[in-house]
Amino acid sequence: MARIVVVGSINMDLVTTVGRRPAAGETVSGDGFALVPGGKGSNQAIAARRAGAEVEFVGAVGSDVFADALRKVLREDGVGVARLREVDGPCGIATIVVDAGGENTIIVVAGANGRMTELSTADLETVAGADVLLCQLEIPVPTVLAAARHARANGTVVLLNPSPVRDLPDDVWAEVDIAVVNEGEAARLESALRDVPHVVTTLGGAGASYRGPGGLALAHPGFPVRVVDTTGAGDTFTGALAAHWHEGPAAALAWACAAGALATTKLGASASVPAAAEVEAVLAAAGAR
Ligand code: ADP
Repeated sequence: MARIVVVGSINMDLVTTVGRRPAAGETVSGDGFALVPGGKGSNQAIAARRAGAEVEFVGAVGSDVFADALRKVLREDGVGVARLREVDGPCGIATIVVDAGGENTIIVVAGANGRMTELSTADLETVAGADVLLCQLEIPVPTVLAAARHARANGTVVLLNPSPVRDLPDDVWAEVDIAVVNEGEAARLESALRDVPHVVTTLGGAGASYRGPGGLALAHPGFPVRVVDTTGAGDTFTGALAAHWHEGPAAALAWACAAGALATTKLGASASVPAAAEVEAVLAAAGAR
């Protein structure tokens, strides 16, 4: 069983649906409201766990009413929360308004995620003891760099999902073993990715491709599914890939493509992550396992 440590974000999404968005100073009646636990770190931790890995989460919640609910989401899936700290102030929050036309407006408050500025000795020991470190860019970049450096120095493979996409200092890229990017991120980060040993590019319904050392190139087609909601497909793919990386890139790509495809068949982000048995069934039906 792979041991994964995620150093990353955890958020509560506040999702309001409304026929028409209010103008400045106006009040309108909404149609519905939901609290949806998220954050790329938390979503990917849950995805890696459901894909069969042992997972520890290093992150931060705030001191508000959402903290317990967010902690519970990880714990219920069996993700280790011993390194989930609580800091004063709000949790990471995304306020999302969806109108009748399906258009979104989103306000993200980093909250506790923005306060992930230090890693303790125990956090670093957890990183050193894992097989794979999984990071995204919803916590401060210097923390990602510190985690990645410590991982590399201790033989832990560093997998970076550079999302939300931004330019990163070269010293971060120097620590990355595997990058998982979607097509937009691949285009934006093209030159930085050239020096990353393993690059996996997700291609939506077309599956994913892989480029590795010595010019090794692989591709896996998308699994045909009835798409309901693509939210969380990328996070599901990335967590699953981390959990199966030890089987080699071809097997990991197939597993991640099947998991990502299944995630699109249900509503939600972490709620749509399939169980390992569902993924195995899809792979068996496709003759891939
Ligand atoms: P992101 O959401 O990060 O942009 P993608 O859209 O590339 O990422 O999706 C991630 C993965 O999820 C893909 O590589 C694929 O395996 C799976 N996936 C996404 N959309 C579909 C789809 N319509 N049909 C089948 N698989 C899909």
